[in-house]
Amino acid sequence: MLPGPEVSDDEVDASAPPTIAPGEPAWLTFEKDVSNFLASLDPGATVIHNKKRHGKSGRLRQMDALITGDVCGSAVEIAVEAKHYSKKVGIGVVDAFVGKCVDVEVDKGILYSHLGFDDGAVARAAAAVHPKIELREVPEPASVTLSDSEIAILLADLEPWDVVTPKFLGVRACPGDECWGDFVATEDWDGGICDQCGLPVGVCQECDGSTRLESDEQICDHCDSGAFMVDREHGSQVLTDIHWMSGLWDH
Ligand SMILES: [Zn+2]
Ligand SMILES: [Zn+2]
Repeated sequence: MLPGPEVSDDEVDASAPPTIAPGEPAWLTFEKDVSNFLASLDPGATVIHNKKRHGKSGRLRQMDALITGDVCGSAVEIAVEAKHYSKKVGIGVVDAFVGKCVDVEVDKGILYSHLGFDDGAVARAAAAVHPKIELREVPEPASVTLSDSEIAILLADLEPWDVVTPKFLGVRACPGDECWGDFVATEDWDGGICDQCGLPVGVCQECDGSTRLESDEQICDHCDSGAFMVDREHGSQVLTDIHWMSGLWDH
């Protein structure tokens, strides 16, 4: 993909600490809370909420916050993502975050969740070295702690980083108007999950357009040649597949 137009830091950076607006979505308030909290921890560091930068993939990427600091004369950059999901953050979010950190070439990533992380996410973060990924839970203390041997057992079942990371360089922007998240269309699905709003996004197999799936049966936003179906696990409602079906949709 070709690089987009150059965006100067002045155009995209918040110049002042973010303020909470009435009626804004909970995830945005959570991002701002985390951003302000981080700024309060270290007056010597610079924390920019909603920082955008072109990654080496050529795409303009968004970080919920970027921390820039100086350690003994050496500049250090840390990308921060804050997830306000209605469930624990899973391994896919850690994988996508690592992909983003690699793309924007920061030194480290910190991932916040307000409802904690599942075992796979903890194991995956523990195995991340380039860059290192730290998981933090607010407002609660960490709910999942795993021993080294538990992590080793989980990791044995996971794909290695050199297989996982390249997948995340092929990210696409979430088509939601108010969302600046990314999603990765997986090999198995006709779409993926937005890392910001958490909604499934379908990729049309006819026109290649992206459609954010607010319902589990939805026609392509860009053409009338087919529709998306979202499959969920019975009971838990966990999403198990997004598939595109050609043909006119008569519902
Ligand atoms: Zn989104
Ligand atoms: Zn289409």
